[in-house]
Amino acid sequence: MTATAPTAASAQQHVDLADQWSTHNYHPLPVVVAEADGAWVTDVRGKRYLDLLAGYSALNFGHRHPALVGAAVEQLGRLTLTSRAFHHDQFGPFCQELAELTGTEMVLTMNTGAEAVESAIKVARKWAHQVKGVPVDTAEIIVVGDNFHGRTTTIISFSTDPDARTGFGPFTPGFTVVPFGDAAALAAAITERTAAVLVEPIQGEAGVRVPPTGYLAEVRRVCDANDVLFIADEIQSGLARTGTLFALDHEGVRADLYTLGKALGGGVLPVSAVVGRRDVLGVLRPGEHGSTFGGNALACAVGRAVVRLLSTGEFQDRSKVLGAHLHDRLGELVGRGVSAVHGRGLWAGVDLTSMTGRRASEALMERGVLCKETHGSTLRMAPPLVVTEAEIDLGVDALAAVLS
Ligand SMILES: *Cc1c(COP(=O)(O)O)cnc(C)c1O
Repeated sequence: MTATAPTAASAQQHVDLADQWSTHNYHPLPVVVAEADGAWVTDVRGKRYLDLLAGYSALNFGHRHPALVGAAVEQLGRLTLTSRAFHHDQFGPFCQELAELTGTEMVLTMNTGAEAVESAIKVARKWAHQVKGVPVDTAEIIVVGDNFHGRTTTIISFSTDPDARTGFGPFTPGFTVVPFGDAAALAAAITERTAAVLVEPIQGEAGVRVPPTGYLAEVRRVCDANDVLFIADEIQSGLARTGTLFALDHEGVRADLYTLGKALGGGVLPVSAVVGRRDVLGVLRPGEHGSTFGGNALACAVGRAVVRLLSTGEFQDRSKVLGAHLHDRLGELVGRGVSAVHGRGLWAGVDLTSMTGRRASEALMERGVLCKETHGSTLRMAPPLVVTEAEIDLGVDALAAVLS
């Protein structure tokens, strides 16, 4: 008889269990986290690590922010889910508060980021057919190379990453790919059937790539000139990550639709949304789209607490000020194992020259710092926005030591 409780298992046993019983669709670092608070996590052996990944922005407010846990616990004691068959008392207020925060007119609630992107695609197509006059079922959407918008079959249909696509076809038609940062190529790809352009204002998965200055304003201009919707995927870049509410705000550009996710659920549960123009989102009629868990009471209560945290501007300011410090410090490493640093605010892609991102992540883990590689030799850093300057120094010093 094995009487070992799961919590008493060693780190290696947990890794082995995952290896044996879970699909192998991730390649996690061999750290087994048991607890977390703010910017710090503790593994099953009691070792503490500084979390410089923050769940790819899902944990913008750190682990277990008291206001978010408090809102969740309070709501758990009242109501979790009704389905959208009935109204509940968190739904309307959440939609109103999110629309007001984002300066938009309407909200479509979903759960995961991929669902928000799928929803934006469906809405844009319907708008093109119904309002713009594109012949039904022929709408096209322009996307950019090296995009990351999620993992559904339609979304991977326009991925340019072979790992994301190979073997998963047949693919959904209706997408045209143009290079990131190239507004002329985008303009040339527009036809009478173009419904929308879908862009990450800063590409996260591709290595925290910031497009050339003026590119996003030019995308906006091209969309306006051709009656095409600008859909900004701000699932990773939005909600204070880059020092402003949206990454688009740095360029003074507004999108017609924004997809939101990750931090919208405060690291507590999946909450996503499409927010934007009423004349676009308003094309949906009862029965045409939905999700059993979308807009559930618990999600809305946590989402409302997230909106409250963002409405003070405190986290945007932290990201701006501390992000400048992070980029200053990382800049010191250029020429010392680093070829370039990309990003904005508390968000950085660090291109390594002396080792792979995986190797650097493993060495950092040994030193009690967690972050993760993206695409080969780039390390992605996205500290929770509650991180302190001293903690950033600790992380960058660890990276310097690993690279020396
Ligand atoms: C993470 C992410 C998604 C997908 O979100 P999921 O919740 O993982 O489905 C979509 N777009 C961007 C830009 C992302 O970073």
